[in-house]
Amino acid sequence: MIPLSLPSLKGNEIIYATDAIKTQWVSTSGQYVTKFEKSLMDYLKVEDAVATQSGTASIHLALRLCDVLLGDEVIVPTLTFIATVNPIKYLGAEPIFMDCDDSLNMDVNKLESFLKEECELSEKGLKNKATSKIIKAIMVVHVFGNMAKISEIKELADKYNLKLIEDATEALGSYYTEGKYKGKYAGTVGDFGAFSFNGNKILTTGGGGLLVGRSKELISKARYLSTQAKDDEVYYIHNEIGYNYRMTNLQAAIGLAQMESIEEFISCKINNYKIYKEHIDKIPGLRLLEFNKTARNNYWFYSLILEGYSIERDELLKHMQRSGVQTRPIWGLIHTQRPYKNNQTFKIEKANYYLERTLNIPCSTNLTNKDILYIVSKL
Ligand SMILES: *Cc1c(COP(=O)(O)O)cnc(C)c1O
Repeated sequence: MIPLSLPSLKGNEIIYATDAIKTQWVSTSGQYVTKFEKSLMDYLKVEDAVATQSGTASIHLALRLCDVLLGDEVIVPTLTFIATVNPIKYLGAEPIFMDCDDSLNMDVNKLESFLKEECELSEKGLKNKATSKIIKAIMVVHVFGNMAKISEIKELADKYNLKLIEDATEALGSYYTEGKYKGKYAGTVGDFGAFSFNGNKILTTGGGGLLVGRSKELISKARYLSTQAKDDEVYYIHNEIGYNYRMTNLQAAIGLAQMESIEEFISCKINNYKIYKEHIDKIPGLRLLEFNKTARNNYWFYSLILEGYSIERDELLKHMQRSGVQTRPIWGLIHTQRPYKNNQTFKIEKANYYLERTLNIPCSTNLTNKDILYIVSKL
C-alpha cells in the first residue's frame, strides 16, 4: 500500500530524542524547546515564536490574543480542516463561513463583498448587520501549503478594523516571491501565524505547534498563557486563566532534527509534484491543482481535480484503493458539519464544486520515481 502521507525521520531525530531522554529533560522545560523555537525564528525571520502542543492550541491562543470574546464573530473559510474553526467555539464566539476560489483558498472578492454589503463600522468595531454582533478577526488558511492572496486580505482586514490570523499549519516554508510581501513566509504577515507539526505535516514533532506574531509582547503573553499563566514559580500565583499548551522537550528534540531537513523536504515535494504533473497533464479529464505563481510554495499536498474524467471521484478512490494506493477527498465543508449547521455562510459555491471533484494523492517525501509512475499508471 502506498500511503497518502508518511513522515520522514531519517536525520538526527533519534540522537536528539535519545539525548533528551538520557538527560531526563522530557517535559516542558529543557534546551530543545528553546533551540527549536530559535531555529524556527531564524528560518521564518521573526523575532519571537512560542512552541505549543498543537496547531489547534496555537490557533486557540491567537484568537484569545485577538480578544475574541463570548458572542463575537470570526470570518473563516468553509473549506479547511475543522481545527481552524473549533477554537472559535472554545471561546464562545461564532464563525462566519466564506467560499474559496479556484486555488481552494479564501475568495477575496466574496470576502470584500461580504464586508462591504453585510457589515457596518460601529463604535465597538465591525458590526455584522445580520446578527448585530462584532466581527473581530479574519482567519485565512494557506490550503495544502499554497499561499493565499495575503496582500489583498491584509488590506481588507486593515480597512475594516479586523485582526488577521494566518492558519499556516500546512504552509511551513512557503513564502512570497513577488509583491508587497516578497520574502515573507506564510504566517508572518498577519497579526498571528499558527503552525502545526502533526504527523502528516511537512515537519513533524509527533504532535506540536508554533505561534508567531507581529507583536513581541503578545507572543510573550502566549508563552505565559501556554504554561498555565504562572506569575510566581515558587508560590504558584496565577492572575489569568492559562492552558497546558507548551511543547515538551522530547517533541522539540525531534523538531530540531526535522528543521535540519526542511529545505530538503520542500525540494523533494516540488520535484515529485513536477513528475506527477508531467504525466497527469496527459490524462484527459484530470489536472493537478496549481500553486500560487507569486510564491515559493511548500507543495505539501497534491490535489487531483476531476473535470470530465471517465469515472466519478468516489469510483476512482475505490479503484486506487484496490490498486494499493491511498487517496482521500478534501474535508467535508465545515458549514455542513453538525456543530456548525446554524452558522452564517456567504455565497458558498466553489467549495461545493471542488468538494465533489478533488482527490488528494500520495505526497510523502519518501515516494520513489517508481511509486509515482505506478500511481499515474493507475489513473
Ligand atoms: C493540521 C491542521 C490544523 C491543526 O493542527 P494540529 O496540530 O493537528 O492541531 C489546523 N488547521 C489546518 C488547516 C490543518 O491542516
